[in-house]
Amino acid sequence: MLRIALPNKGRLAEDTRALFNDAGLEVRATGERALTASLGGEFQALFVRAGDIPEFVADGAADAGITGLDLIQESGRDLAELLDLGFGRCRLAVAASEEAGVERVDQITVGARVATSFPRLAARYFAEQGREIEIVPITGAAEIAPHIGIADLIVDLVSTGSTLRVNGLREVATILESTARLVVPRRVAEGAGGDDRKARALQELTAALGSVLRARGKRYVMANVPRTELEAVKRVLPGLNGPTVIDILNGGQHVAVHAVCDAATIYRTIADLKALGAQGILVTRIERLMA
Ligand code: AMP
Repeated sequence: MLRIALPNKGRLAEDTRALFNDAGLEVRATGERALTASLGGEFQALFVRAGDIPEFVADGAADAGITGLDLIQESGRDLAELLDLGFGRCRLAVAASEEAGVERVDQITVGARVATSFPRLAARYFAEQGREIEIVPITGAAEIAPHIGIADLIVDLVSTGSTLRVNGLREVATILESTARLVVPRRVAEGAGGDDRKARALQELTAALGSVLRARGKRYVMANVPRTELEAVKRVLPGLNGPTVIDILNGGQHVAVHAVCDAATIYRTIADLKALGAQGILVTRIERLMA
């Protein structure tokens, strides 16, 4: 059995569950509040707080885990990343109140108090910057700290930046860009886990999640194009190894082309195909794309 620690609530929980569903590892919880659930086959989910996941994995209570890079780095535990899952995007930033007039790190005064629930990452950052500051460790929302006089600055997670704006704070510097990651203890990633069955299950998990993540950024395009335009079509539809070209029964001057394209630029691809005289253009999502 491969035990995977997953976030039990918050921003990461929903996206994680959607990813597992798409990968065919549906969460089969016995109830809303279940702390464990079968994911089918050899996989079992343990639902824990995102902040506790690095400890769970490092201590061997779980074989693998999914949580934010910010929490992984703050834990200081020796974990290896197997996948960047792309969601849960945020940055750990230094912010000061608008009135403080601090726009750059080198304007921060010696002994400034920094409220944060990321004391390790904050201390490391200011040490690297050669700034002597005092960390004020907190557990909840840091945004209030400058207003109630317990700190001059904060180090907190920012996603859209609206929480900072609403609280009259200005972003001064970015410490870390974060997304959710699949992690295992480093000794396991280096093949020293000593359990072949678990190692195989971990490979299967990584391949399944990775194939869904790769597919999300791609689309499958099919179109009928004039045979005379095939050279130009090849430039528009590079595909994985160039487009597949198929004869059409009674297709006349047209042949069918199929290719995998980037989802982000699909509108451009369609416009380019139309300009080359393509007909019957069809675009579909891809469930999985194996490496
Ligand atoms: P925003 O207003 O969108 O910049 O969000 C900032 C607030 O949401 C702060 O209170 C952060 O602690 C929290 N936050 C933003 N992104 C994340 C994340 N990926 N994980 C956990 N908390 C986050």
